[in-house]
Amino acid sequence: MAKRDYYEVLGVSKTATDEEIKKAYRKLARQYHPDVNKDNPKEAETKFKEVNEAYSVLSDSQKRAAYDQYGHAASDPNFGAGGFGGGFGDFGFDGFGDIFDMFFGGSGGRSSRQRNGPQRGNDLRFDMEISFEEAAFGKETTIEIPRTEVCPTCKGNRAKPGTPIKNCPNCNGTGQVQVTQNTAFGRFVNVRTCEKCNGEGKTIETPCAECGGSGRVRKNRKIEVKIPAGVESGSRLRISNEGEAGSRGGSNGDLYIYIYVKAHPKFERQGYDVHSEIKISVTQAALGTTVTVATLDGKVELRIPEGTQHGTSFRMKGHGIPQLRGHGRGDHFVKVKVTIPTKLTGEQRELLKKLALAFGEDLSADDKGFISKVKDAFK
Ligand SMILES: [Zn+2]
Ligand SMILES: [Zn+2]
Repeated sequence: MAKRDYYEVLGVSKTATDEEIKKAYRKLARQYHPDVNKDNPKEAETKFKEVNEAYSVLSDSQKRAAYDQYGHAASDPNFGAGGFGGGFGDFGFDGFGDIFDMFFGGSGGRSSRQRNGPQRGNDLRFDMEISFEEAAFGKETTIEIPRTEVCPTCKGNRAKPGTPIKNCPNCNGTGQVQVTQNTAFGRFVNVRTCEKCNGEGKTIETPCAECGGSGRVRKNRKIEVKIPAGVESGSRLRISNEGEAGSRGGSNGDLYIYIYVKAHPKFERQGYDVHSEIKISVTQAALGTTVTVATLDGKVELRIPEGTQHGTSFRMKGHGIPQLRGHGRGDHFVKVKVTIPTKLTGEQRELLKKLALAFGEDLSADDKGFISKVKDAFK
C-alpha cells in the first residue's frame, strides 16, 4: 500500500506551524485512539498508528526537513546522510498508553525533552532474513551492528581521565547566557544557550583521546538475538536499550529487528497453518494409498482413502507453526492433486479401455480413429 503524505494524514498544510501540527495531531489521536473506538478497533488502530507516525516526523524539525526534501524515502535506513538514520517509522508502539499520556497531560516524553537536557539515543533498525523453518521454530543468532556507544574511557564526560572538568566560565555553569539589547521599542532580555559549552555548563581542559572529546565512540557491537517461534514476515522485535547511546546522560535508544521470511519451495503459510500439495495418480485416488508428506516435522505418513477426489484437502493436526507467545500449533493441510497419465503403453491403454467398458462408457464417440482401425483390421 502506498504511504500517505504525512501532511495529508494530519490534514495540515505544508507550511503549518508546530502548534498547528500539534493541534491537528491531538484531535486525530483522540478521534482514533483504540480506547474510544470499540466498534472498529482494527481500523482505528491503523489510523492511530498512521497519525502517530506522521506526527513523530512532522513534530521533529530535523525529520520534517528531511521529509520535506526527500519524502518517505528519507525513512529508508539505507538512505544517505540526509535521512533519519533508521529512526522514524519505528515508533515504539507496544503500549498505546505511553503515547496517549505524552500528549494528554501525562508525564511527558521524547517530545518534551529540553534541547540541552539529556537526549535519548536514536533507535536502530536491523533487517533480518530468515528461513520458513526458522520463523516457525525460532532462532538464536548473533548480529553485528555498527552503533554509537558511550565512550568507555571517559564514561561520556569527554575529558581525559584525571583531568579537571570545570564550570564553563562563559555561563558560570548554567548553560545559558543572557543577552540584553536596547532597542527603539525598549529593552529586551534574551536568554540563549551558551555556545561555548553547548548548554552543558561544563568545560574540559584535555579532551579524552579515545573519543576526541565527544564522549561517544562508534563500535561494531555483537548482539545476541532470540527470534521467537511463530514470527512472520513483517514482525518487528524490539530490543530495549540496544540502540544508539544517548547524550548528556540520556538513555539509549532501542534496537528494532524487522523480520523477513524467505518463501518456501513447498510450504505456504496462512496464519499458523501450513499448506502444501501432493500429487497422486488416478489409480491411487480411486483405490486409496498411503503417501509420505513433507512437513515442518519431517516426513509424515498420510492415509489417502479410496475414492479421493482431485482438490481434496487433508488436515494433519498439529504439524503447523507454533503460535507466537501461545500454546499449541497450527495444522498442516495437504491438498491432493490427481495427475492424469500423459503417456500410455499399449497394455495400459487396453486396460484402461477395459475399465472404461466396465464403467459402461461409450468409447466410440471419443475414439473413432481407434475403432475404425480395428474394423479395418478385420476386413
Ligand atoms: Zn572518551
Ligand atoms: Zn557555557
